Amino acid sequence: MILYEHYCAQCDGITEEVCSMDERKQFIMCDHCGGSAERIISSQIERVEPTWLNDAKRQLQPDSRGYINDRNDLNAHMKKEGIEQIG
Ligand SMILES: [Zn+2]
Repeated sequence: MILYEHYCAQCDGITEEVCSMDERKQFIMCDHCGGSAERIISSQIERVEPTWLNDAKRQLQPDSRGYINDRNDLNAHMKKEGIEQIG
């Protein structure tokens, strides 16, 4: 699960939505004014990194535990699996 931020030009507000990459939307309803908020690159993605990093680790086979040890390993894994990079 990834945190996405959506910017509303009507009220200058930010609405956060946590969802998978498959479920992400370009526009969601603004939490503040009910207007249309457009997805932006989140500057706070690091805040949720431990969760999705652990999710990625859990999906690995037990005998390959330790394959992903840091961000570089994860990037390599995502590239190998054809997973879209974010942030
Ligand atoms: Zn708004």
